Amino acid sequence: MATNYSVRVIRETRYVGKRRDVHGLYWTGLFLLGVVGLMGITGAAHGESDAVPAEAKAVFIIVDGIPADVIERVATPALDDIAAAGGYTRAQMGGPMGTPAQTPTVSAPGYMSLVTGTWADKHNVRANDELEPNYDYWSLFRLAKSIEPPLTTGLFSTWTDNRTVLLGQGLPATDNLAIDYVADGFEHDSLGFPHREHDQHIEVIDRHVAAEAARVIAAEGPHLSWVYLQYTDDVAHASGDGPDFDAAVGVMDGLVGQIWAAVAGRQAQYGEDWLILVTTDHGRDAETGQDHGGQSLRERTTWMVTNSQRLNPAYYSQPEMVDIYPSIVAHLGLPIPQQVAAGLDGSSFID
Ligand SMILES: [Zn+2]
Repeated sequence: MATNYSVRVIRETRYVGKRRDVHGLYWTGLFLLGVVGLMGITGAAHGESDAVPAEAKAVFIIVDGIPADVIERVATPALDDIAAAGGYTRAQMGGPMGTPAQTPTVSAPGYMSLVTGTWADKHNVRANDELEPNYDYWSLFRLAKSIEPPLTTGLFSTWTDNRTVLLGQGLPATDNLAIDYVADGFEHDSLGFPHREHDQHIEVIDRHVAAEAARVIAAEGPHLSWVYLQYTDDVAHASGDGPDFDAAVGVMDGLVGQIWAAVAGRQAQYGEDWLILVTTDHGRDAETGQDHGGQSLRERTTWMVTNSQRLNPAYYSQPEMVDIYPSIVAHLGLPIPQQVAAGLDGSSFID
């Protein structure tokens, strides 16, 4: 028992000492639960020299088409809670304006810029259809599978093309990329998710996707997961800025909260070192909020929220979509092949 106590002290320092005071009691409680779980798992006593570094894991969540001014105005208690552990910042999408790397403020180009760490002149996705990604620029998921042993991965998404096209699961050009835990395809399941007026079934799908993400993260804890929630963009295309959009942002926040709770539970129970990062793919036009795709300030101005306690100053000077890839790599401690590193357009905001 004495040696178990030494393990407890190490973990207490890691998970309670660095957090803000307001979360101290909450984390202490979770931590004590975790110690009980840990003792049950490890059984026999371990010496202090056997203490291993916390296993690094990451989940990034893209919520569609929410400008920074909207996320800052609408009440989002779950995002606020994540930000209290790490930080909130305004961010940028669209790439360097007036250059070949300029990237439309459109969904699929944004996802590709996140998952490949490159702009559209490299990843070659400039719209949401007629997709012909350049797989020479490895996705985070391919990178995660390139190491030995490969990391476990999860994809929970309201848009199936994220897996089948953008990541290129199972294609020779992606080295037959495999993804371990998948929840998607629901937008094509008209029996399970009957189509409703104004795309309201997409909100139903978002709820299901978020619940699956939380369930799998809690039970399996994949090393790298992507969650994609779409409904906010549908509402804004239909209604523009206004109460319907704000309400959809509120629903989204609750869904993110479910995933955050699953992450917090794993940190407490297993002592894992989790990065959760929530962002959006683009802003919206200033006039109505219904459109996007151009390079106006509101379309380019996005945001990020993360629990990371290793943020460097770059995080607070409007990081770009392409900076997320190297930041997740830094958190996970992944080695990057030289030819992959050479293609990246961003740099890490995580030390
Ligand atoms: Zn979008």
